[in-house]
Amino acid sequence: MTDTTTPTTSNFIRTIIDEDNATGKYGRRVHTRFPPEPNGYLHIGHAKSINLNYGIAQDYGGLFNLRFDDTNPEKEEQEYIDAIMEDARWLGADWDGRLYHASDYFEQLYDWAEQLIRDGKAYVDDLSADEIRGYRGTLTEPGRESPYRDRTVAENLDLFRRMRAGEFAEGSRVLRAKIDMTSPFIVLRDPVMYRILHAPHPRTGNAWHIYATYDWAHGQSDSIEGITHSICTLEFENNRRLYDWFQEALGIRRSQQIEFARLNLTYTVMSKRKMIKLVQEGFVDGWDDPRFWTIRGLRRRGYTPDAIRAFTDMIGVSKANSIVDMSLLEHAVREDLNTRTPRVMAVLEPLKVVIENYPKGQEETFDVPYYKQDKTRTESRPLPFAREIYIERDDFMEEPVKGFTRLAPEVEVRLMSAYYIVCTGVVKDAAGRIVELRAMYDPATRGGTSADGRKVRGTLHWVSAEHALPAEVRLYDNLFTKPDPQENGENFLDNINPDSLKIVDALVEPSLATTAPGDKFQFVREGYFCVDLDSTPDRLVFNRTVGLKETWVKGKE
Ligand code: ATP
Ligand code: MG
Repeated sequence: MTDTTTPTTSNFIRTIIDEDNATGKYGRRVHTRFPPEPNGYLHIGHAKSINLNYGIAQDYGGLFNLRFDDTNPEKEEQEYIDAIMEDARWLGADWDGRLYHASDYFEQLYDWAEQLIRDGKAYVDDLSADEIRGYRGTLTEPGRESPYRDRTVAENLDLFRRMRAGEFAEGSRVLRAKIDMTSPFIVLRDPVMYRILHAPHPRTGNAWHIYATYDWAHGQSDSIEGITHSICTLEFENNRRLYDWFQEALGIRRSQQIEFARLNLTYTVMSKRKMIKLVQEGFVDGWDDPRFWTIRGLRRRGYTPDAIRAFTDMIGVSKANSIVDMSLLEHAVREDLNTRTPRVMAVLEPLKVVIENYPKGQEETFDVPYYKQDKTRTESRPLPFAREIYIERDDFMEEPVKGFTRLAPEVEVRLMSAYYIVCTGVVKDAAGRIVELRAMYDPATRGGTSADGRKVRGTLHWVSAEHALPAEVRLYDNLFTKPDPQENGENFLDNINPDSLKIVDALVEPSLATTAPGDKFQFVREGYFCVDLDSTPDRLVFNRTVGLKETWVKGKE
C-alpha cells in the first residue's frame, strides 16, 4: 500500500502547528530539530525526517537544529557524526550553526536529576537489570515496586553523587524516576534515567561514569533548545507521556511531540542494526554501495537531493504504517534526471556494424545538442561518425519477431542524428554467434532525416568504433529478491539477490572522456547514468542510476 495522496502543503503536522500558531501556544515560534543517534549512517528514512523537519522550519520562517543524541558512548563513533553532518548537508538541510549534542547538556541533566531526587521524584535502585525487568510487569499485569524505592532524599543524593564519581561497578545501581509501577503505560513504570558506565565518551572523555538514558535526555534536550514541535516516529508515541512528565516535573519549557509513521520501502530493511550487518558481512560493498538506500549509497548511485526531496514530498506524512513502493523513489529520480541530464550515446552490449559504402578512412562530425528535452539550452557536442560503428546487440534480430522495429536483414533504420542504414549481411563465428553486421548507408539522409520523406520505424543509438571509449558500466538491481525481505519472519540475509550487480564492458561516445565522478547523463534509450567514484580518465566507470522505463503508473499498482 502506498500513500501518495497527502500533499505536502497540508498535513496533520502542519495542521497542529497552524493551530498552535493561532492560539499563540509558542508565541508563533516554530523550531524543529533532527536528532540522530550517531550509531550508523543516514538512510532514506532519515531523509524523510530531515526534509520534514527542515521543510517545516523553512516554510514557517522558523529554526531547525541538528542534535546528536549521543547518550550511548559504547555504540557511537566520530565517523558516524561526521558522515551524518555531511549527508544532512548534502540533502540540503541547513542548521545555521545550531549544531548540538545531548552531551552538551550532561551537566544540566545531572542537576535536574538531583532536583527530581530532592523533590522525591527519583531514587537510586540497587536491583539488577534483570530484576528491574522482572519487577516491571507486562501489558496485562502491573509492575511491583522496588524494595529500594523509598530511600530517603539524603541517601539517594549521596548514592547518586557517588555513582557519578565512579565509586560503583557497572550494573550495580541505576537512577530511576519515581512515577507509577501500576501505570498502564510501561514507560511510566519508574523508567531508568541513569546507568553506570565506565566508558569514555567521544565528546566528554572520561568525565562521566554515569550516562543519561535516551528517554531522560531527549525531552530535556528539546526543552533546552526551545524546540516547539518535536517530530518523531510512531514508536515513541507512549514515550511522549514520559517526556511530558519529565518536563512538567522539572517545571521547564514545554515542547509538543508529534508522531508520524516511519518510512518503509520495498526491497530494503531500514533498521540501522540490520544495515550494519549488511556492511559487516559483505553483502554490500561499504556504506556508499550504490545498491544501498543510505544517503551516500543513493548519492553514489546518481540520486540528487532534489529527487529525494520530491520523493519525500510525494509520500507525505501519515499516522498509519505502510510500505512505500521502491518504484516511487525511482520515479522521482527519473523525473528529476530527465530535466537536468545531457543526452549522450553509450552502447552497453556492442555489436559491430561495417558500413560498406562509407569510404574507408573518411570521417565526419555531427553537431548534436545535449539537451533535446529542453529547448532553452543550446549546448551541443561533436559526435564523430565513420565506416565502422557499434550498435546495441539486442537492436538486431536476424529473424525479427513480429513487432520488432529495429535492425534486421534488408530492414532500414535510423542511426540517431546520423544516417539511415540498411543491413546487408551478417557475419558469424565458428560457433554461429553473430560477430559483425554489414550495412549500406544513404548519404541523402545526413542528420537522420531523408530528403524524400521516406520513413523508418526504428532509431538506434550507436558509437563510432574508432572514436568510442571503453567504459565499465555497473547495472544494479534490488539487493533483495522480495519486496518484503522479512516476509513471514524470514531472515533478510536469506533473501539477498545474487544478481544485484551486473558489470558490462560498454563503449561510450568520446565526449565522455572528460567527465568527473558524480556527473550525470542520460544514455539515450538505456537510462540515467552517473560517473562513479572509481572512474579515472584511463578507466571510465558509470553507474546506472535508473532505467528509462516507467514501471510505476499513477493510480495503478
Ligand atoms: P534505528 O531504529 O534503525 O536505530 P532510529 O530511528 O533509532 O533508527 P535515529 O538515528 O534515532 O535512528 O533517527 C533519527 C531520527 O530519524 C529520529 O527522529 C527518527 O524518528 C527518524 N527516523 C529514523 N528512521 C526513520 C524512517 N524510516 N522514517 C522516518 N523517520 C525515521
Ligand atoms: Mg534510535
